Amino acid sequence: MRIILMGPPGAGKGTQARFLVERYSIPQLSTGDILRSAIEAKTPTGLQAKHIMARGDLVPDEVVCGIVAERLDDKAAKNGFVLDGFPRTIAQAEALDEIMEQKGISLDAVISLEVEPEALIERIKTRAVESGGGRADDNVEVLRNRLDVYHELTKPLLAYYERHGNLKTIDGMASIDEVSAAIARALEK
Ligand code: AMP
Repeated sequence: MRIILMGPPGAGKGTQARFLVERYSIPQLSTGDILRSAIEAKTPTGLQAKHIMARGDLVPDEVVCGIVAERLDDKAAKNGFVLDGFPRTIAQAEALDEIMEQKGISLDAVISLEVEPEALIERIKTRAVESGGGRADDNVEVLRNRLDVYHELTKPLLAYYERHGNLKTIDGMASIDEVSAAIARALEK
């Protein structure tokens, strides 16, 4: 199963990605998690990404596309994967199409989690408290920028995948288990 999970910050992508990992025994590929590890390890990529991420802006396409190309070569991703937080721009989506074409593989589904903007702000505030300030970009000011970036650069991908892929829109306002069940139904239809 090769899946992309899309949705604005706070929509529940990470949570639902972990559900898909369990259900289909596929690895989760989260560019955000990979970048946070790079920051932690103070790699050149991490040093480059740190300030961009703290502002809530996007890390350059070449950087994240390089990360994803490398991870898709891993044995672990041979039988599938769930991409969480990638692609975030049309250029990234086109790069992914190219990478997959070269490998002779294709996507099974693109899942879009839809959540109302007010709920996103509340969820991010909760996450900021629960993580004990662990994420530099989980505060209301930065969140507003992340939402703007999402609307401007990432949302156009929904139309892209409506044309190119198997887009499945899921109501992300329900409980975690209900959202998981709706995703499973959509994938198994
Ligand atoms: P996330 O954990 O997916 O919310 O990502 C956290 C931050 O990492 C984003 O706000 C961006 O700064 C950066 N990031 C993650 N994925 C990407 C991507 N596909 N393209 C550009 N920047 C990204």
